[in-house]
Amino acid sequence: MKRRYILLILPVFLTMLLASCGKEPTERQLYTMDTVCSILLYPQNEVAADDICDTLYALDNELSAYDGDISALNEKGKGVPGEDTKRLVLRSIELSQMTGGAFSPCLGTVIELWDIGGRNYIPTEDEIQRALASASIENIIVTGDMLELKNGVKINFGAIAKGYAGDVVKQKLDEHKVESAVISLGGNVYVKGKRSDGEAWNVGIRDPKGSENEWLGSVELSDKFVISSGSYERNFEDNGKVYSHIIDAETGMPCESDLSATVVICDDGSLGDALSTALFVMGRERAIEFWKNNGGFELILVGKDDKITLTAGIAPLFSPNDERGYVYETESR
Ligand code: AMP
Ligand code: MG
Repeated sequence: MKRRYILLILPVFLTMLLASCGKEPTERQLYTMDTVCSILLYPQNEVAADDICDTLYALDNELSAYDGDISALNEKGKGVPGEDTKRLVLRSIELSQMTGGAFSPCLGTVIELWDIGGRNYIPTEDEIQRALASASIENIIVTGDMLELKNGVKINFGAIAKGYAGDVVKQKLDEHKVESAVISLGGNVYVKGKRSDGEAWNVGIRDPKGSENEWLGSVELSDKFVISSGSYERNFEDNGKVYSHIIDAETGMPCESDLSATVVICDDGSLGDALSTALFVMGRERAIEFWKNNGGFELILVGKDDKITLTAGIAPLFSPNDERGYVYETESR
C-alpha cells in the first residue's frame, strides 16, 4: 500500500510534514517534560507559539517529580500546591479509581527504587514491599488549598503529565484561535484541524519492534490526541530479562504485559495518557473489556504475539504498513 505518512518523530517528522502541507507553519522544538517537544502552527502565529512554549516550561517546573514543585511536596509531605498540581492530583485520583489502580499516581517511592533508565537497580522483595507500603491514593489528601501526603507517599505524574500538558496546550490553541496544529510532546501527539489541502492529519504509529523511525501504520485524524505507552520507551536488560519502566502497582515489579504497546485515541489528553499506561498494565484481554465498559476513547493494542487489536471506532481510520508483518483483528462493543 502506498501512502504518504507523516512521521511524528523528529527530525524526519518536520521535513515530511512540511513537504505534505504546502504552507509554512510557525515551528518550535524544545526539550522539556523530560522529552523532545515540537510545535507546528498553521497559519503562522509566533505569539501563540511563545505562549505554548512558556506554558510547557512552567508545567515542567511544577509537575516534575525530580526537580519540580512536586519533588518539594514529596519531600515535605505537606504544602499548598500550584493550580495545575492540584487539578492533576484530583484528576489522577479519579483515573486511578477508574482503572482499578492500574494507573497509580502514588508510585513515586517504587519508581525511585528501580530508577529504570537511571541506575537500573533490581531491588530485593523486602525493599519493594517497603516502597509499596505507602503507595495508596488514600494517603493523598486534598483539603481546601492544602495537599497532604501521608505515611511518606510520593506522587509521580510520569504517566499523565504530558497528557495533561496536551490538554493545556489544546486550550491555548483555542484561545489563540489557531486553525490547525500538530503538537508532539515526546510522542504524545495532538492534531488540530485539517491540513492545508483539506485532508485530515495522518499520524504515524511507531512500531515497538522497530527503531524510532519505523511505524506500523497510520491513522487519519483531526482534533484528537494519539497517546502511546510501551516497554520499548525505557527499559533495561539483566540476565536476559527485560525490565520496563511501567510498574505493576499490585506487585511493585516492572510490568510483564502481553502487549508491547498501547495507543489511545481520544479528545482528552489526561485520560489518554493515564489509560495508555493503565491498559498496558492490564494486558490485552482486560484492556478490551475496559474499552467495552467505558466510552470516550479508541485503542490500538500491539501484542507481543504480533497481533494488533483495533477497536471499532478507529479501524476505518487506520492504514497498516504491510511491511511490518502484523496480523489484525477488530473489536466491537
Ligand atoms: P507512560 O510513558 O505514560 O506510560 O508513563 C510511564 C511513566 O509513568 C514511568 O516512567 C513512571 O514514571 C510512571 N509509572 C510507571 N508505572 C506506572 C503506573 N502503573 N501508574 C502510573 N504511573 C506509572
Ligand atoms: Mg501514560
